[in-house]
Amino acid sequence: MRKQLHALLLTVGVSSSLFAQKTIIYCGKLIDPASLSVKTEMSIIVTGNTISDVQKGYVSAAAGDKIIDLKGRTVMPGLIDAHVHLEHETSPNAQLRGFITNDADVAFQSTVYAKTTLMAGFTTVRDVGGSGVNIALRNAIRKGLVPGPRVYTADKIISSTGGHGDPTHGWRKGLTADEETTITVADGKDACIKAVRQLYKEGADLVKITASGGVLSLEKDGTGPQFSEEEIRAIVETAKDYGMRVAAHAHGAEAMKRAIRAGVTSIEHGTLMDDETISLFKQYGTWYVPTIIAGKSVADSARKHPEYYPPVIAGKAIAIGPMIQNTFSKAYKAGVKIAFGTDAGVYAHGKNWMEFVYMNEAGMPALEAIKCATVNAAELIGAGDKIGTIEKGKLADIVAVEGDPTQDIHVMGNVKFVMKEGVVYRNE
Ligand SMILES: [Zn+2]
Repeated sequence: MRKQLHALLLTVGVSSSLFAQKTIIYCGKLIDPASLSVKTEMSIIVTGNTISDVQKGYVSAAAGDKIIDLKGRTVMPGLIDAHVHLEHETSPNAQLRGFITNDADVAFQSTVYAKTTLMAGFTTVRDVGGSGVNIALRNAIRKGLVPGPRVYTADKIISSTGGHGDPTHGWRKGLTADEETTITVADGKDACIKAVRQLYKEGADLVKITASGGVLSLEKDGTGPQFSEEEIRAIVETAKDYGMRVAAHAHGAEAMKRAIRAGVTSIEHGTLMDDETISLFKQYGTWYVPTIIAGKSVADSARKHPEYYPPVIAGKAIAIGPMIQNTFSKAYKAGVKIAFGTDAGVYAHGKNWMEFVYMNEAGMPALEAIKCATVNAAELIGAGDKIGTIEKGKLADIVAVEGDPTQDIHVMGNVKFVMKEGVVYRNE
C-alpha cells in the first residue's frame, strides 16, 4: 500500500524524501565552529547521507524514525586532519621499510590506520604523500570496502633530486629504484609539469611538494630551499589546469617565501617562519598547517631512544621539532589562516587529537582549534560546501565527545560517537 502511494506521489511530483527514514540525533551540546558558539538541546535530522535539518530542542520522532541520544555529549562536525600519511606509522629503522615491504603489505596495514583515524573522530583527511597505495585506499574507503575517513590524497610527493621527498636519498650507489618509485622526482620546469600530470593520471586529488629539506629523510639539511620559484610556479599552474591545489612542505623561510609567491595553497610545518614570511602568508591568503605534534614526537623519540633514528635524522629532529609550537603561536597571533594538520604516521595514528591540546597550550581557544579542524580544513581542501559544519544540505559527518572541550581540551581524545555520511561507526 505504502509502496503504491509512494509511486503515486512521485508521479504527482511529491518528493520521495517524505518517506525516507530519518535519524534524529539529540545533542546536549552542539558546537558550531563557524560562529565559535555552543548551542544546547539541539536536534540534528539526518536523511540518508545528508543533514536534512538542524532544530532547536528535542524534536519528536515520527513512526519509523531512528533516535540517537547524545544528550549527555558534546556534538560537533566530523573532524578533518589536513596532514596525514595513512600508509605508514613511525618505527625504529623506518629506512629499511621500503626494502622489505610490498605494496600489498602497505595496503593491508593502511586500512588499520584508516580505521583508527576514523574511530578517533576524523571523518576526513588529506593524505599528503606516500607510494600511491593511498589512492587505492581512498578508493576502497569510498566504495565502502573498508572503514576509514574520506581521503583526499596527494599520491606521491613531488621532490627535487636528493630532496626531502626523494625516496632514494641516502641509498648507496648502485641501488636503483624502479621507475615507479621515483617518477615524481623532478628537476626543472618541464619535469615539474610532467610530474603534476603524472599525479593527475594516477588519480591524485591534490599535489604535495617538498619545498625545503625535512627531518625524517637522510639529508643533512632540514630547512634549505629545494625548488626554484620558477619550478614551484610551474607546478602550481599545471595543478590548477587539473583542478588540484598544492601543499608545500617547508621548514625554512626562503622555501616558504618562494612557495607562497608561486601560489601554493598551504605551507606545511612552517617552522622557521619570520616576520616577512608572515606578511606574505597574509598577503597571499596562504593556509598554514602547523603539525605541532609531529615536531614534538620526533624530538621526543630522538631524545629518549638514541637508536630510534639514524644520527643525521636525530640531530634535525631535536633541533627543528620543538620549534613548531612557538611558530604556531606567532602565526596565530599575527592572524595567519590556520588549518588543522598533524602529520599522523610520524607519530601513532589515532592520537591526532593531541594537536588540539598543543594548539590550546599555545594560546588558541578550544572553539577556534575545532574551527581549524572543521570549517578551515574543509575550506583548505576545497570541500567547504560539503563538510566542515553541521547544517542543512551538508554530508552527515558528525562526532561527539564525552565532556566539554571548552572546559577541558583533553576530552577531544574521548570520542564516543562517529557518524560518516549518515553511517554510524562508533556509538558508546
Ligand atoms: Zn608529512
